[in-house]
Amino acid sequence: MKSRRIYMLKVGEREAPSINHLYLEENAPARLLACMYFWCVVDEKGPVVIDQGFSAQTLKDLNIPFRFEAEPPELLRRIGIDVKDVRAVILTHLHWDHYSGEEFFPRANYFVQQREMAYVVNPLINYRALGRFYNRAALEKIVRLHLAGRVVVIDGDQQLFPGISSLWTGGHSPGSQGVVLETEKGSAVICGDVVPRYQNIREDIPCGIHTNTIEAVQALEKVKARAGSMDRILTGHDPEAMQKYPRVAEGVYLIEGGLP
Ligand SMILES: [Zn+2]
Repeated sequence: MKSRRIYMLKVGEREAPSINHLYLEENAPARLLACMYFWCVVDEKGPVVIDQGFSAQTLKDLNIPFRFEAEPPELLRRIGIDVKDVRAVILTHLHWDHYSGEEFFPRANYFVQQREMAYVVNPLINYRALGRFYNRAALEKIVRLHLAGRVVVIDGDQQLFPGISSLWTGGHSPGSQGVVLETEKGSAVICGDVVPRYQNIREDIPCGIHTNTIEAVQALEKVKARAGSMDRILTGHDPEAMQKYPRVAEGVYLIEGGLP
């Protein structure tokens, strides 16, 4: 995986309730800055996107206050990636800020955990507390993509491509998964929202939004066991990541690999 590059791309940010990220941490400030990222892995076979962000239009449709910075296709263009070349989108889960149904990548297949697909067509999704983080239009879209044969349904921990594997955690949602990337420096893990901030890892605090507390706690151990080091744990929404990695274009950070 010598020539592999890993990028973090930032769609924008908002002040989110800290209880979304930090379970029962009553001493945390009421709100914390939450950055909305997605990731892109580029090697000789072509780009793979992990989560896909969302458009400014989705935010308007959902009426979510947000400081929007750039559309995902534009962020990728800044590092020379054409959306038509993206061959796969691996979704850590289906919450609106990770997948909102836009057809950014006309040729990509979508990789989703079976437990997440099952959950979003389960009657539970119609309880507000359980369904509120999903964009309904996006769920219709993923079901349609599935019926069209464009969703690869994953069951647990699997190799998806050489050097790219799923790591099921559950916790944050029934089908939440990490994505493990083998690199020269060891494994990196894109955690999704089961680890929204570095504080979760440092202080063993499970994510605030979850469907299973035990899974959310165990996910912290799982991620730590798979990642080569703290720098190789890529958290869901932490602004600290922007300080850790060099910015190579507006809104784009290079996690690993040389410049093309
Ligand atoms: Zn989420």
